[in-house]
Amino acid sequence: MELVTLNDVLPKAKRKGYAVGHFNINGFIWAQAILQAAQEEKAPVVIASSDRLVDYLGGFKQIADMVRNLIKRLDIQVPVVLHLDHGQSVERCLEAIDAGYSSVMYDGSHFPLAENMKNTKKVVDYAHANGVSVEAEIGTVGGYEDGVIGNIHYADLQECVELVNATNIDALAAALGSVHGKYKGEPKLGFKEMAEISTAVEIPLVLHGASGIPLAQLHQAITLGHAKININTEMNIAWRKALQHSLVENPDVYEPKILLESSKLVIKQTVSQKIKDFGSHNKGK
Ligand SMILES: [Zn+2]
Repeated sequence: MELVTLNDVLPKAKRKGYAVGHFNINGFIWAQAILQAAQEEKAPVVIASSDRLVDYLGGFKQIADMVRNLIKRLDIQVPVVLHLDHGQSVERCLEAIDAGYSSVMYDGSHFPLAENMKNTKKVVDYAHANGVSVEAEIGTVGGYEDGVIGNIHYADLQECVELVNATNIDALAAALGSVHGKYKGEPKLGFKEMAEISTAVEIPLVLHGASGIPLAQLHQAITLGHAKININTEMNIAWRKALQHSLVENPDVYEPKILLESSKLVIKQTVSQKIKDFGSHNKGK
């Protein structure tokens, strides 16, 4: 199956009350595990590379070709969106589009609104002309974002409306209390603000930093318009635990394939569980 865009999967998810899982690639085994889990769960899926890891992973073309080849090789039949996560500049988003990504996020949330809107619009114009979808961000997700440790800064309702109207983006990440990486204490999302923003902008919302948010809060976020939920940390914590266990259990083994097997399996299991949690299983048929 060819790659699809956010528009092929998110509006439907929002209408039907579930969310599509977005999972980040941190290496080849992540790409395999994410696609296999989505296929097994018959779920639409967003497979993403964070801009800060793109060069480490071999560049945009390498990632796009790898995902396309895996879709063929693994006979993946569910809808797959290949998405750039936290695109750091207009140029980087355009590069991803040229390399074959079907969706990009331009993250200008650290800029004043006018600059964020101007840059986002440039990305949207190029993306839409190429049949690619765009996500943008307002506010600040807490924790580690774009290599900077930031404090939570709630998205402003008026700014969200202005950005969406001025740019014609396809999905909006409105930061409302979520954090990238591990949470210190219980996460508290701004549900009142979420309801207001979702009603005002109408397009699907995206929840960043969803690893570690209790299921009840995730379900409430889905009810209040979130159609894409981003997971990275939870996969990587599971991967690390399994890898550590594998190294301790096999002190004489040096074959990477054997040592990495269990850590790949737990990534797949984490993705499968999240897909079920978000209600998107059996929605990709
Ligand atoms: Zn994020």
